Amino acid sequence: MEFDKRSCIDLHIHSTASDGTLTPSEIVDEALRQGLRAFAITDHDTIEGVREAISYGIPASLDFISGVEISAAPPESFSLKGSFHILGYAVNTDSPELNEALCRLQKARSDRNPHMIRRLNELGFDISLDEVVAASGDGQAGRPHIAQVMVGKGFAESIDDAFNRYIGKGKPAYVDKYRIPCNEAIDVIKGAGGIPVLAHPYVLGINDRAVMDRLVGTLKKMGMMGMEVYYPEHTPLQVAYYEALAENHGMLVTGGSDFHGSLKSDIRMGSGRGDLHVPYRLYEALVAALK
Ligand code: AMP
Ligand code: ZN
Ligand code: FE
Ligand code: FE
Repeated sequence: MEFDKRSCIDLHIHSTASDGTLTPSEIVDEALRQGLRAFAITDHDTIEGVREAISYGIPASLDFISGVEISAAPPESFSLKGSFHILGYAVNTDSPELNEALCRLQKARSDRNPHMIRRLNELGFDISLDEVVAASGDGQAGRPHIAQVMVGKGFAESIDDAFNRYIGKGKPAYVDKYRIPCNEAIDVIKGAGGIPVLAHPYVLGINDRAVMDRLVGTLKKMGMMGMEVYYPEHTPLQVAYYEALAENHGMLVTGGSDFHGSLKSDIRMGSGRGDLHVPYRLYEALVAALK
């Protein structure tokens, strides 16, 4: 099937402000090069990349919406295997409450890094916090930068290998970090005039559809307004399932590639592994929900 690129969007992109490898201005240029019609920068727990992209200047041919991806704790009574992330779209970057919450999350990530480095040292790896901070450039240092240094020093074969053997959840050098309760994340996004969206539902690691339905119902009651249905890890069957789930709960549908540049080298902006097509009408519906 042929897709008109000019009808495609990407609402999930990481920049160097978190763990992406393109700067915000390079992302703007790449979105143009890919011929996208709309995009959002959604860094982990920071809106610095959004600010930078705006000051760089977004061409009129490209629709842009501010974004953030918040690391949250799931509702009590749901214990999840995977990462629980909440995307916030069209947030006002000047909101004091949003900025305070993001500061708290950034501190949690930077507090954790020395603990993880110590664990790795105990495992016999010669790796320092300085190296990890250097790998993160001007952005926030996180696990992907630890992985990057490990690969560079030959301690792991790839980023995935570093996660799978050492720093992924439950692995020997993994240290948990503070996560904001999800109801608070939702309130902070809404308080900043934004739209909270449940990120990559497949990544939550829920196999039981009844549990998934209960979780989505609980989140909807808390104010969650959308679900990220289009995502590179979602098979066509899963897309259909999540789309129906979102519709049943009266939620908006969004999608994006979770582009991280060379930190996830198999994912391209806009098209993921080549078969991702997120239609522009979803962006229009998102913007319409703001009114
Ligand atoms: P942090 O927020 O510092 O704990 O880092 C989490 C980020 O690491 C995620 O959002 C992904 O970008 C990345 N990540 C998590 N698990 C993996 C994995 N198995 N392979 C590669 N990257 C991963
Ligand atoms: Zn990431
Ligand atoms: Fe995520
Ligand atoms: Fe992401």
